[in-house]
Amino acid sequence: MNETVEKINQLKKQKNAVILAHNYQLPEVQDIADYLGDSLDLSMRAKNTDADIIVFCGVHFMAETAYILSKKLVLLPDITSGCPLADMITKNDVLELKKKYPGVPIVGYINTSAEVKSEIDYCCTSANAVEIVSKIPSDKVIFVPDKYLGSFVKRKVKDKEIILWDGYCPTHLKILDEDIKKLKKKYPLAKVVVHPECNLAVQELADEVCGTSGMIKYVKNNPQVKTFIIGTEVGMCYRLKKLFPEQEFIPASELAVCPNMKKNTLGKILFSLEEEQPQVVVDEEILKKAYKCIERMYTLMGIQ
Ligand code: SF4
Repeated sequence: MNETVEKINQLKKQKNAVILAHNYQLPEVQDIADYLGDSLDLSMRAKNTDADIIVFCGVHFMAETAYILSKKLVLLPDITSGCPLADMITKNDVLELKKKYPGVPIVGYINTSAEVKSEIDYCCTSANAVEIVSKIPSDKVIFVPDKYLGSFVKRKVKDKEIILWDGYCPTHLKILDEDIKKLKKKYPLAKVVVHPECNLAVQELADEVCGTSGMIKYVKNNPQVKTFIIGTEVGMCYRLKKLFPEQEFIPASELAVCPNMKKNTLGKILFSLEEEQPQVVVDEEILKKAYKCIERMYTLMGIQ
């Protein structure tokens, strides 16, 4: 075992820390994580952990969510790892939407800042967006910030008017329909699974459109399929290959690399455990309001 990994493991034990890592993290970071998952899985882990320190290997809004749910010491090894999609909507934008559409509930993807969460009504993830929107007791809702995930929800939830915000994930937009068409020619028996943050032409070509936890389920339920074309951040192929070594996972585009997700390295994780820095903290007033929108998501899902 390499020296950095050994030290990380020692400090983890000594300080009662847990490492939570998103499916898009670097392979070596995935390898040392206590729990890997999507935003929903990791938020549940943060909520229920009895560790004293959470080292969050993901991006800033995820670490904020972990803090909101746990109020533990939350470390983000590279504090500059943000999410351009989350940055596409601000608290002021939400306040403007409220003025423009008074009384219309606002659902925000978990990819939003704590400040934005403090002003919206419901939170959702790519794994539960359809369920959450369909259960909101209103025939009109505003969905922010991802217009592609919002459009995906719109197709599934036909009995509601859904107003979309013009946000998008630059990494997922690197995946083009031509990429999928080329790969389908090369691997005619492969199944195509793509994330709902992909553009609609890409979604149209897929056998399944789902978040990363949905991708794991889909592969598990299709053991007869040998090859999958995976339309999401490339880190997911590493995760899938580890879980299903007998099957093959081809990234829909090698260009779909989220630079922010790759900022957390083993060296930075070790430093953050040693120094207990950089910490992610949310102002108490914002936290209370943001907690409510996440709590409403759990309530609609029937989770306490
Ligand atoms: S992959 Fe896209 S949505 Fe996810 S963190 Fe990177 S920019 Fe944000």
